[in-house]
Amino acid sequence: MRRAVYPGSFDPVTNGHIDIIKRAASQFDEVVVAVLRNSSKSALFSAEERVNILCEVLKDMPSVSVRAFDGLTVDFVKECGAIAMIRGLRATTDFEYEMQIAHTNHELDDSIDTVFFITNLKYAYLSSSMVKEIAMYGGDISKFVPPFVEKVLLEKVQNV
Ligand code: ADP
Repeated sequence: MRRAVYPGSFDPVTNGHIDIIKRAASQFDEVVVAVLRNSSKSALFSAEERVNILCEVLKDMPSVSVRAFDGLTVDFVKECGAIAMIRGLRATTDFEYEMQIAHTNHELDDSIDTVFFITNLKYAYLSSSMVKEIAMYGGDISKFVPPFVEKVLLEKVQNV
């Protein structure tokens, strides 16, 4: 059983993340999408809300599960019995940051590898922060997120 963990903030999940999840699911038997609770970034959605949103949009992918986690990602990857950590690379600007994380994680546990997927060009400039900003100013986010995410994000920004 080849299992991989895809960690991130997913605040909220975008079509870019979903593209990476689909591609990871075609390479691994199981993919655990892992929502980081203790991120330094202040999140719009709580970890539970982010997990629920991911469960809804990924419900048709039987080999993909969703969990929230605290602490070191390598420890969570090990706890899941996974052999790899998935990360997405968008523009070259992601590269240096992602390399640093991957090297650090490999130092912490050399049994776990980081596997990078290069995003589809049409999502290369898409980020959760950009989607949130567009939603806050009433712009159209339907091209960037699934309809369910559009609905909950519009409800959320109306209430903040
Ligand atoms: P983090 O806080 O860990 O950066 P994110 O939710 O922003 O969490 O991203 C999680 C992972 O998904 C990262 O590897 C990031 O590079 C990748 N990612 C984010 N947006 C996209 C996108 N549009 N296309 C492909 N990968 C993406």
